[in-house]
Amino acid sequence: MLDDQTISDLAKAFAAAPDGFLVVDSGHPTFAVLPYQVYQTLKKTKSNNKKIKKILVTGGAGYIGSHTVNLLLKEDFEVVVFDNLSTGRKEAVGDAKLVVGDLADKDALEKLFKKEKFDAIIHFAASIEVEESVANPAKYYQNNVANGLNLLDAMVANGVNRIVFSSSAAVYGEPEKNPIDEDSVCVPTNPYGETKLAFERILKWYGLAYGIHSISLRYFNAAGSMPEAGLGYDRSLKHTHLIPRVLDAALGKTAEINVFGKDYDTSDGTCVRDYIHVLDLADAHIRALAKLQKTPGANVYNVGTGLGSSVLEIIDATVEITGRMIPMKITDRRPGDPAKLVANSKKLQKEFGWKPRHDLKSIIESSWEWQKNT
Ligand code: UDP
Repeated sequence: MLDDQTISDLAKAFAAAPDGFLVVDSGHPTFAVLPYQVYQTLKKTKSNNKKIKKILVTGGAGYIGSHTVNLLLKEDFEVVVFDNLSTGRKEAVGDAKLVVGDLADKDALEKLFKKEKFDAIIHFAASIEVEESVANPAKYYQNNVANGLNLLDAMVANGVNRIVFSSSAAVYGEPEKNPIDEDSVCVPTNPYGETKLAFERILKWYGLAYGIHSISLRYFNAAGSMPEAGLGYDRSLKHTHLIPRVLDAALGKTAEINVFGKDYDTSDGTCVRDYIHVLDLADAHIRALAKLQKTPGANVYNVGTGLGSSVLEIIDATVEITGRMIPMKITDRRPGDPAKLVANSKKLQKEFGWKPRHDLKSIIESSWEWQKNT
């Protein structure tokens, strides 16, 4: 007798590989003729409903990773962080176990997976700057695709079959309409988005071939901090994102904020983005783990608020909150920037019971607290 999980896996396998057939009697599969390779894969596929307790977080010392680790620990998960500390801070992992290593190092991964038995992975480790990706695509294909494959191969080799992946709204490129839902066409306009999309697709095929169950979370613009826990962006790094840069200009650490283009097809001519508090993002990961225990295959969700703010609106809101003057200069467009990216995250709200709890004010206020004091 086939259980529900196997029936669902079979249906997916037939949808993707129609070179077999399934005999269904009154809605129930009775027997199947399968290519031998598909049969072997199904035999190997473990169901995904075992309770998740121990988690490997790659990139857990970084900005979004460390906020998520903080929440995971509060929820009593056992957490091991694997991070090369290139952009992460070791203090940011709190009481989680930190293993310093690089996903390019297959031996280190093999050792880690042999030593620790993980129930699931949350994969943050990646390069994330749009502008840099346009100038140096090699770095992005190496870090975001090739190194990610090392992680997946270690999972397959060691029987770990669940992963939450940090994807991005950059997979959509210049969307046909806003708000963007998950079925929108994906045509990335920069290598960063291309590599995130490539990895999502790898997850789909690894799901069908090797039984990996995955949830890809397409983040819109993560911002905000948790200063009370000592968490925020690493202040020793050069900031490239808008909100920390605007705040640095408010602090007088930089002379002005450059506004990249005022000739976009938006209400004030500057780019519009959906800024989401990093704690709301972290919360989506906790819910994704619960969802992974019930939902097989490769699934994709937007994580955003559904509200867009232009660059000028962000500057105005920051002037209001900080009470500081913020000098600005309009400059050329930055290569690879789409005009507007706003999320439709109804799927996430419906299926995860998630909703954003922090607004733009709380994002800027928490970042201001963090930046003033670090
Ligand atoms: N931006 C800007 N000046 C800056 C940094 C960013 O005008 O110094 C703009 C950028 O062109 C984009 C928006 O702010 O339209 C958000 O950029 P960010 O790098 O924060 O996030 P992205 O949307 O690229 O992931």
